[in-house]
Amino acid sequence: MRRRAAGFKMNNIHLRETFPPGSFRFTALMSKRLTRRAQEMIERSLPHFPELNGHVITVGYTRKHLGSATVIYRKGAISGLAIRLKVRKLTYQTIGHELTHLLQGLSHARRSRARAADAAKIPSGEKQCDIWTLARHELFCDDAPTYLRLPRVMRESWPAHAAAVRALCIRAINKRKTHRRYIRWLEAEIRALANAPLKDVPPHQQLELPWPS
Ligand SMILES: [Zn+2]
Repeated sequence: MRRRAAGFKMNNIHLRETFPPGSFRFTALMSKRLTRRAQEMIERSLPHFPELNGHVITVGYTRKHLGSATVIYRKGAISGLAIRLKVRKLTYQTIGHELTHLLQGLSHARRSRARAADAAKIPSGEKQCDIWTLARHELFCDDAPTYLRLPRVMRESWPAHAAAVRALCIRAINKRKTHRRYIRWLEAEIRALANAPLKDVPPHQQLELPWPS
């Protein structure tokens, strides 16, 4: 009896080990389309999302969008997490964005009355998703975010601005604790950042610029 019980316990541990903290399962279509590069990018992204530990994330393929994310419910409980990615020109930005959507979904599911817990939750919304993705890790700053308002000049030379925008996103998340309009604040700061080099130009030269500021 005892031995059996011990054996059973070990089986349980073993079972858990076959699903390591936060792992992926690729759909049949994705398995066909998946490149080594894309797979490595997905695998490298997941450890930055410890909140997804213990979940198996189904990764599907999409051709239409950059990506999508779904939290699947059955009888009011989460029964699965899924993201879809476009393999061609895949960026860490997109992977991070979709994984952050999963966290937004989980935040909704684990609705808690504790105010303290609210601050740690990621609010829903696309811009919010962009902000929390950029803030999470510099890995996810390899491409400009889709929904956050960025001046065109910044979008066109994103790598030069990525670190500064990420720093602003981190500040915005902190600001959210006291400022309801933290996204507006962030977008204004980003605009100011894009215009910053102009401040170094003597005023008479600024007048010669072909575009009004
Ligand atoms: Zn999105």
